[in-house]
This record gives sequence, structure tokens and C-alpha cells, in this order.
Amino acid sequence: MTQILSADKAGVAQAAALLRQGALVAFGTETVYGLGGDATNADAVAAIFAAKGRPALNPLICHYPSADRVFRDVVSNPRAERVAEAFWPGPLTLVLPRRTDCAVTLATGAGLGTLAVRVPAHPSATALLVAAARPVAAPSANRSGQVSPTSVRHVLDGLDGRIAAVLDSGACRVGVESTVLDLSGAEPVLLRPGGVSRENLEACLGPVRLPGDESVMRSPGMLASHYAPALPVRLHATAVADNEALLAFGGVLAGARCVFQLSASGDTAEAAGRLFEGLRWLDSEAARLGAVRIAAMPVPDAGLGLAINDRLRRAAAPRGG
Ligand code: AMP
Ligand code: MG
Repeated sequence: MTQILSADKAGVAQAAALLRQGALVAFGTETVYGLGGDATNADAVAAIFAAKGRPALNPLICHYPSADRVFRDVVSNPRAERVAEAFWPGPLTLVLPRRTDCAVTLATGAGLGTLAVRVPAHPSATALLVAAARPVAAPSANRSGQVSPTSVRHVLDGLDGRIAAVLDSGACRVGVESTVLDLSGAEPVLLRPGGVSRENLEACLGPVRLPGDESVMRSPGMLASHYAPALPVRLHATAVADNEALLAFGGVLAGARCVFQLSASGDTAEAAGRLFEGLRWLDSEAARLGAVRIAAMPVPDAGLGLAINDRLRRAAAPRGG
């Protein structure tokens, strides 16, 4: 049985004690719920991969309570200083070279010479990271390949009985995963669109390149099929069939019987916050109504739309990867 801890002082202390013992604790952040384990403990890190059923070559993000703590484990540079100042705490992950005295086990970063690091912006997550007093590796708290969780119920749907506890800090504000920005090379590369928009990064750093094919090697986690609901997904829907459920954005298509509205006003930030809830809801409702597919209306690439479209493309990609 997985224990549900409330995000008060006692709950945070208990969650931190569990982490220090090598147990796994899911916790809420502003993006999605993370599945936390002591990043300095190889057994705890191995247990994260096992609980999720995650391939060992898909590296984990390490979480810290402050930028100061981050730069004890990875090598900083002027760009990293600038974005850390602008976006931390917040939904931005940086990929930077490991320091030679990095405390994080190599398995956390899937053996790579770089490490993905983040300072989350959520009071109980910060309290937990301070109390744990060590870097915490935390991928999203779902079974590998499934949709990321934005509530305790979602976490338990996938991981009940497989992890020691979950710290209940309510619904997640941003709702999509962090933006992953590689600052380990000559130019910044946006490995994964997420909670910080490309526009905002470029306002701070100048041009930020989207990855070419080489990044599939550099960021092994970027498998095509990921974030998948149970039903197949059809993209760019401008009409809806009788046997389809609709993921709507803006105006609802005529004739849709089973609808989840991401944002009636066409706001990409609101839509990002509702995306994973929507995919989960459509999965269960659509099955009840006999629908065989989710039709997703187009979302513009601006703002958090880039992250939404990335997740939808993966949800629609051929399965089996
Ligand atoms: P998740 O834990 O599911 O949010 O996924 C984290 C993602 O960050 C991975 O799947 C990778 O794509 C990316 N990532 C983590 N560490 C690295 C790294 N050292 N180099 C490149 N990409 C990374
Ligand atoms: Mg994930």
C-alpha cells in the first residue's frame, strides 16, 4: 500500500525521512507529480526505473531547492547563470556537464557525462528538497509510456503499491513537464518543449535551436511514442466522426458527443494545465460511450502550444516503442 501524506510539516518530514532511507516518494511540483528517490543512492535510483518500468537509458532529472545547490553538482556557464536567474525556481530543466565531484550516481543520468537539473517552484516540493538535504531524482510519477500525472489520483492509478508514499500537494499549476534546455554545447538546444516557452527563453538567451536528428542520441528519453493514452489519437481534427471523442481547443466541432475542452478561449497556458487530465478523462469516458479514437483539434505552436503539440504528437505516434 502506498501511503498518502498531506503536504504539511509532519507529512514533509516523513516524506524526507523515507527518501533518506532510500524509499520512493511521489510529490507534487508546479509541472506534474514527480517520482522521487535519493539521487546519490544507486539502489534508490534503480528502484525508480523499476517502479516506472522505464528503460535504463532514459536519464532522470535531478531536483534541488536552489540554484546554489545545483551548481555543486554540474558545471555552470554564463548562459546557465542567466536562465537560472530568470526562470528558477520554475519549469525549466538544464542539461549541463557533471562536475568531477558530482554527488549524483551515474545511473541517474543513464551514464551520460551530462546531468539534467531543475529547481521546482512549489512550496512543498522545496520544503521536501530542503529536508531531504540531497539531490532528488524524479521523473514523472507514471508508468513508463503513460500520461504524466497532475493529481494524487493519477499517481495512484499507475503506481499504487509500487512506491512508499505520495505527498499530496493538490493539482499541478502548469500541467506539462518542464522545458529541457541543453546548455552543455556551443549553442543552446531546446530538447523538450515544456512549461517555459521558447519565446521566453529566446528573450533571455537569443536564438534557441530546436533539436535535429542528433538529439535523439543526446536525449535518449525522447522516444517517439510516449505520453500515450489507451485510445489512439488523431491530430489536427477539423471534423469529428461518430465513433470519436473530441479534445477541443477553442470552439467545439459540430456533432461531437464526448468532449473535453482544453480552453474555450484558446489560451495555451490554460490548455497545458488541462491536457493530461483531458487525455485521461477522454480515455475512460470514450470507452464508456463506445468511442474508438480521440480526435484532437489543432493548437497553435505559440507559448505553451509548442509543448502541447509535442505531447500530442507523441500520443499519436505509432505504439510499441
Ligand atoms: P522525464 O523524467 O520523464 O521528465 O524525462 C526527462 C527527460 O529529460 C529525458 O527523457 C531526456 O529526454 C531528458 N534528459 C534528462 N537527462 C538528460 C541528459 N543528461 N541529456 C539529455 N537529455 C536529458
Ligand atoms: Mg515522464
